[in-house]
Amino acid sequence: MDLVKRKEYAKARKNFEKTIEKGGREATLAGIYIDIIDACLDNNNPARYAKLASSLERETGGFEFGLTEIDPQKLAKECRLLAERIDISRMQGSTPAALEEKGNRFLDVARKYQSQIGNDSLKISEIVGIQVNTGIKEALHIQAWGYESIASGTVLTDPKRAAELLQNAYACRKQLGQDGQRDLDLIKAYSKSVKCWICGRPSTGEGVHFLAMPSDISPFMRSSGDDLLKSAPGDYNSVYVCRPCYTSISRRSDEIAREYHERAMQEMMAMEARLRAEIRSIGAYSAMRR
Ligand SMILES: [Zn+2]
Repeated sequence: MDLVKRKEYAKARKNFEKTIEKGGREATLAGIYIDIIDACLDNNNPARYAKLASSLERETGGFEFGLTEIDPQKLAKECRLLAERIDISRMQGSTPAALEEKGNRFLDVARKYQSQIGNDSLKISEIVGIQVNTGIKEALHIQAWGYESIASGTVLTDPKRAAELLQNAYACRKQLGQDGQRDLDLIKAYSKSVKCWICGRPSTGEGVHFLAMPSDISPFMRSSGDDLLKSAPGDYNSVYVCRPCYTSISRRSDEIAREYHERAMQEMMAMEARLRAEIRSIGAYSAMRR
């Protein structure tokens, strides 16, 4: 146990393996110690916590690990929640349905942290060396991720709803003492409505459903009192364009650029062939003169 206190985990693990070989009551505890050490050495791996939880759930009496007093059933619960939380944060997929599922699962595990851990500090975080929070604080972090995940999918179909979800995420971050600036910026962008300068259709959600496109609004245009002027950034150096207009213009201009590029390449290759032929004929001529 002195090795554990000094955090010499590799050496301690070897000793515990020897204890297991001897068998008996000590062997069961040594097995748990090894699972704890494995979690410490690989503290972002959910499988480590699931394994540790299973061994803890079989243990009834309290024990010590290093300087930490351990209540096995309580620590097992923390391990289960932590494994679940890491599993969720590893969920891939960028479709609105996948992001919504991920967000809802975050909100679900956040509720479990509130009800099962509450105001107690998370002992497992202390043991494996990750940020130590109370159950309530951990829940707030996870809730913020949950709302942010759902919002990032919802914005494609309903930017106003996405802004509302981000308000919830912002409230969580505020309670955690963070500035929540990223959420605030997105709330502002997603709540913004303009008219497209090209087709005149209304659009909501800057950066997603409409974009600013570099342009030059001349002083004469600025004074025209046009309704669309309200839909231009204040510096008059760009106009707002809805996503369909924007993508059709950029795709067409990509095609044109590609055509020009190919034509230029062909001309260069033809010129190179002409130069090579000329060099060859000069070579032949000077060989003749020698
Ligand atoms: Zn448009």
